[in-house]
Amino acid sequence: MIKKVLVANRGEIAVRIMRSCREMGIRTIAVFSEADRNSLHVRYADEAYCVGPPPSAESYLKIEKILDVARASNADAIHPGYGFLSENASFSKRCKEEGIIFIGPSEYAISTMGDKITARKKMMTAGVPVVPGTVEPIADENLALETIKEIGLPVMIKASAGGGGKGMRLVKRTEDILPSIRGAKSEAKSAFGNDSVYIEKYIESPHHIEFQILADKHGNAVHLFERECSVQRRHQKVVEETPSPLLTDAIRAEMGQYAVAAAQAVNYDGAGTIEFIVGDDLKYYFLEMNTRLQVEHPITERVVGVDLVKEQINIANGLKLPFKQEDLKQTGHAIECRIYAEDTKQNFMPSPGRVKHISEPLGLGVRHDGYVYEGFEIPIYYDPMISKLIVWAKTREEALMRMKRALFEYKITGVKTNIYFLSKIMRTPDFVSGKYNTHFIEDNLQFLLSEDDCDGLCQDMALIAAFVDYHSRKEAHKPTLARRLSHSPWKDFGRRRGMFGVD
Ligand code: ADP
Ligand code: ADP
Ligand code: MG
Repeated sequence: MIKKVLVANRGEIAVRIMRSCREMGIRTIAVFSEADRNSLHVRYADEAYCVGPPPSAESYLKIEKILDVARASNADAIHPGYGFLSENASFSKRCKEEGIIFIGPSEYAISTMGDKITARKKMMTAGVPVVPGTVEPIADENLALETIKEIGLPVMIKASAGGGGKGMRLVKRTEDILPSIRGAKSEAKSAFGNDSVYIEKYIESPHHIEFQILADKHGNAVHLFERECSVQRRHQKVVEETPSPLLTDAIRAEMGQYAVAAAQAVNYDGAGTIEFIVGDDLKYYFLEMNTRLQVEHPITERVVGVDLVKEQINIANGLKLPFKQEDLKQTGHAIECRIYAEDTKQNFMPSPGRVKHISEPLGLGVRHDGYVYEGFEIPIYYDPMISKLIVWAKTREEALMRMKRALFEYKITGVKTNIYFLSKIMRTPDFVSGKYNTHFIEDNLQFLLSEDDCDGLCQDMALIAAFVDYHSRKEAHKPTLARRLSHSPWKDFGRRRGMFGVD
């Protein structure tokens, strides 16, 4: 049985994994780069080891270095989190060779699903519907043109090795086909070291809906329902919710069965996600499988009532799944917002730096998975996501109100964040009605970026008030909680607003 886990990751996900370990009585080992010496995951862990300089290629991606730490610290198992080495088949293999449990699927499942062309073929054999397109990598340009004639424009040219929203091109006009294929190939070669690209029909008015699955080493597999992830910017998710406002119970059950079949087709074990693209007509197609824990996994945990990290560890220990499909159901509604340190007004440019003040939202139905604290310097080297705010309520309407309330409570100074942008999403009619697809952000960008309403003004004024308060407290050398509460700039602001009628 696993007694000590090395977490080969950083930031919020490293902390989140360690939390479940602690609840299971498992000791935790952190690895960190020189830029992360003061990171919360380092402080939280029972032991921590530096694995190299800031760039991830020289630290978090150094397989042998991480294995050295695992051996030296007597780790039984390694949890890779998401990103970094989580979908690296040779890492899974090297762990096995070293007699260390990799908390994730086999090398075979990772490599089969990691290559999108191989995955598509495998799914076709398993009878799972895939997006119409080419079966083989594009080698012959004439054949590519013929395929496109058959399926019709627009199409997506996709890199077989792509991920994280990268390596995709939308083609709308005939004259753009060949230049796009050539461009996509050279881009894929330099970004992923593999120039395989293929063609997929572009699904109009697309919804990204994915299914969480869990499978044990004894052939049992279940799905834990869906996550609606259509609020995206540049093919990257920003807000997720479950249940999806689009699906009917019948389609949900069908897609869930296909998700389980997809996982079983590669003898999958562990937690994984089957992503589907769904049209307005509710026709759905397999998009890809992510063979790891997903960023947005907490909304599923809340609605289904399962700790996915604990299940991953139990599966890695060789235990059987503790539930059957019919034991699982969705209760209530959950929404997640990804909080980024970025400047939404400067084309969403990352905004790393020192966090001066942070007040995290609390209260009924709120979960906050983060890793930054007051005084922490957000490094420039990694993904600018600093936390995830998750709310749950009995109905979607209540969850929406709760998310607005939680975003209102969430204050960060020192770095720019997308908190206000997220609160605008929660007030955009298309989101409120639940009738949105992956074009939601671009279709509503003008409204989302405008700050001419009262809330925008409040936000700016409140930030200024917080900043002034922070400095006055620093000067007084008495930043006690009581003092902060008795001298709340948020409260002051509200009162002043009432007095002078700033509206
Ligand atoms: P999700 O956000 O749904 O969990 P993503 O595909 O966006 O899934 O990936 C999660 C994290 O992993 C992101 O930080 C992303 O940048 C990173 N990532 C995913 N695939 C790759 C890849 N092929 N190369 C580098 N980073 C990746
Ligand atoms: P990644 O590995 O980068 O996550 P995916 O294949 O999962 O790549 O696609 C990411 C996003 O791109 C999807 O969520 C969707 O918004 C868009 N997309 C991908 N393929 C299609 C398609 N065939 N039609 C319409 N949108 C697509
Ligand atoms: Mg994807």
